[in-house]
Amino acid sequence: MNRLERLRFPVEQSCGRIYPEPSHPYRSEFQRDRDRVIHSRAFRRLENKTQVFPAGVSDHFRNRLTHTIEVSQIARTVAAALGLNEDLTEALALAHDIGHPPFAHAGEEELDRQMRRFGDRFDHNLHALRIVESFEHRYVRFPGLNLTFEVREGIVKHSHDFEPGENPALDQYLPGLRPPLEAQLIDLADEIAYNTADLDDGFSAGLFNSEEVCQWVPEFGRRLEEVESQFPGASEREQFQEVLRGLVDWLVSGLVQGTVEAAEAASATSVDGVRAYPGRLVCFTPPTQSTNRALKQFLHHSVYYSEAMVEARRRTAAQIGELFEFWVAHPEKLPEHHVKLLPGSPVHRVVCDYIAGMTDGYFERCFQQTDWRTK
Ligand code: MG
Repeated sequence: MNRLERLRFPVEQSCGRIYPEPSHPYRSEFQRDRDRVIHSRAFRRLENKTQVFPAGVSDHFRNRLTHTIEVSQIARTVAAALGLNEDLTEALALAHDIGHPPFAHAGEEELDRQMRRFGDRFDHNLHALRIVESFEHRYVRFPGLNLTFEVREGIVKHSHDFEPGENPALDQYLPGLRPPLEAQLIDLADEIAYNTADLDDGFSAGLFNSEEVCQWVPEFGRRLEEVESQFPGASEREQFQEVLRGLVDWLVSGLVQGTVEAAEAASATSVDGVRAYPGRLVCFTPPTQSTNRALKQFLHHSVYYSEAMVEARRRTAAQIGELFEFWVAHPEKLPEHHVKLLPGSPVHRVVCDYIAGMTDGYFERCFQQTDWRTK
């Protein structure tokens, strides 16, 4: 297979850190960034944040930390197969969800809804940037984690390109240019990880059976037929797992192959060429692309919009909205550290940042313990 070493982002070409630091004797700058992310509080909080299924339903379902580890493993495999920079890829994969609020997309949507009332927005990638630039306090000499430019750029761009003038706060992150391949691949590694993991957890939760997946995802059906004839005595669960493993491998291979083909078709010969190219070069082959899309449609129908999940989301979104509105009306009830931020920031922003940083468990404790009497 053709590898893409020529498009690898070389660590020596990093634009560096906001606060200059001496280099480390044996760790590269991107390895140091990876370590800083792992040692951050925001990273540890991922353990108690919902991925899809709420905590407490089963100890076998993914939470946002185990999801992040799966993304990191898939992303590094792809980076290694393509000859890209594994250290940069790993740092970005580990950081890709640290800006997620409690209760997954229900939390994100409700925070965004609340912020829009004030003409503002909530976006988990922008929140992740604020975490690594400001909210983490691990160093005496600077706020945040002082990560390299490429990791900060990848955090805001891995799933979304933006144009000049679109968001003035991001003007330093090369608007109008694509991020390096190491950042581009995070988005699709994320999709492979969550599509297959949600299929696994949804099956375990009894939301559907193998037959239903086959109706929506023909590739799953083809593979199930093969596995059934190969292991006729195996249980439905064992056969399902065999199919799922093969599917992950096939999707990852399709991502590697699709990217090699796209880079060749675009005649990309350097990182600058990747940046200047009008579209993203990391992509699936056509068959893996259509299976990835079919998986997503099936999961929307059978998992994300199942009655139980919709009801759980509605409940948690309502609670987040209630606490948000209470603190905006009574900012004096916020913890002291957040009250101190108020002269410098609008109250909706302080409340949003506070809630966005919470784990599911901490939010629930706050919701139970909040003194509502002044309402
Ligand atoms: Mg993710």
